[in-house]
Amino acid sequence: MATVVHWFRADLRLRDNCALHAACAEAEAVIPVFIFDPAILRSPDNGAPITAFMLRLLSSLEKDLAAAGARLIFRHGSLLEEMQGIFRESGATQLFYNRDYEPYGRERDAAVEKWASSAGITVRSFKDSVLQEPGEVLKDDGTPYGVYTAYARRWRLRPLDPVLPTPRFPKKAPARQPRGIRLPTLKELGLHTDLTLPAAGESAALAQLSKFTHGPLLRYAEGRNLPAEPATSQLSPHLRMGALSPRMIVAEAVRAGKSHPQAREHVETFIGELIWRDFYRQVLWHHPHAATSAFKPRYQELKWGNDSRLFEAWQRGRTGFPIVDAGMRQMAATGWMHNRLRMIVASFLCKDLLVSWQWGERFFMQHLLDADLANNNGGWQWTAGTGTDAQPWFRIFNPLAQAKKFDPEGAYIHRWVPEIDTPDYPRPIVSHAEQRAKALALFRGVQANGR
Ligand SMILES: Cc1cc2nc3c(=O)[nH]c(=O)nc-3n(C[C@H](O)[C@H](O)[C@H](O)COP(=O)(O)OP(=O)(O)OC[C@H]3O[C@@H](n4cnc5c(N)ncnc54)[C@H](O)[C@@H]3O)c2cc1C
Repeated sequence: MATVVHWFRADLRLRDNCALHAACAEAEAVIPVFIFDPAILRSPDNGAPITAFMLRLLSSLEKDLAAAGARLIFRHGSLLEEMQGIFRESGATQLFYNRDYEPYGRERDAAVEKWASSAGITVRSFKDSVLQEPGEVLKDDGTPYGVYTAYARRWRLRPLDPVLPTPRFPKKAPARQPRGIRLPTLKELGLHTDLTLPAAGESAALAQLSKFTHGPLLRYAEGRNLPAEPATSQLSPHLRMGALSPRMIVAEAVRAGKSHPQAREHVETFIGELIWRDFYRQVLWHHPHAATSAFKPRYQELKWGNDSRLFEAWQRGRTGFPIVDAGMRQMAATGWMHNRLRMIVASFLCKDLLVSWQWGERFFMQHLLDADLANNNGGWQWTAGTGTDAQPWFRIFNPLAQAKKFDPEGAYIHRWVPEIDTPDYPRPIVSHAEQRAKALALFRGVQANGR
């Protein structure tokens, strides 16, 4: 029997945590650790909102672990050095963690595995954060899907893994505890936010899930496009840092569907959104270049205008297009934006302001509580028309038509842009018709080059 180190990353929960469950079932003693990684904290894609939310989750996790009889060890520093220190100080011989599918995570984990193998440490990684892993949903010829609809059809044919019971920690304490620091504050990490954060922790995430499956889920297919209503789950920040597992979300949704057979269509539509999440993870897994450049290489050659004055007006929610400004202000005030609005403001930035999707992608990463490389990059490339899916470059959202269709009473707009009918509200900074023509010309320019 061995002492196992469970390395927490974006799986900040006890329930249905695959690696932690295995560690508790198999080890003599378990040492849970979380390492603050300067490479992530200092990245220009790391925002204060998500870091603040993560600190709340860690505080909650620390308490949950203490109640279960375990001490969460915090470290801060070069990842490999901290990991080596943890093993040296504790004498542990095994490392367990849940797999990460993004380029940086893969590199980091490969480096840790290399060191571990040279140091005689056994490493085991687990499928946990996705419902289906990148290699599990492939075409008949073994190649990955590039289009969501076909991917989702195959995805739905596969069985789902069961939800695991809450782990019971081994009675024995580790023979030697490694050193740890106290949980740092946001300020100590060099960041600041004025956001009021949502309740954080496993219990809060479960409460949010229950609220959703007992109400909005039962009308989800219709409600999900109406930003004025609380009609989607708002689980994204919790799911992002793993405060609850995707398996628990599906299990609860399916249970609700069984109790309300008339809501089956809504449950299926909702599961379709979680399939998008797996889809974008497998895109990055099979095509890591998409993290930093256009999925379809020819679109890397687009000559964006990148006018910083227009970009700033978009950032501040002062474009004079009320639906766009409402979306940007919702994100600034809450750290969350409705999916319909994410599509509208992203389309507006690329196709109306002719600013690169990569500028918008980074701004979202810095401001969202659910900032997530795979979903964000996938969403931006889909909207810009440079990505995997069937959204063609010539289909351009009209912000006025979108507002009329999805916010017909103007309730959402008035909530976030209360000064809309006063002289304080700016006039439109561009003409949609003119900019649309320019965007079409821009994209047409790279069509000839058929890569
Ligand atoms: C330009 C753009 C940027 C985006 N950036 C992010 C991001 O940084 N982080 C993020 O989690 N999502 C992102 N999305 C996807 C989506 O907008 C959010 O996941 C969703 O709005 C979160 O709200 P919810 O939890 O209420 O979603 P629900 O409708 O309740 O969906 C449940 C869960 O399914 C997943 N999901 C839903 N829609 C999508 C989607 N289109 N693609 C992938 N997964 C999805 C999310 O994990 C979500 O929590 C982005 C979309 C676009 C168009």
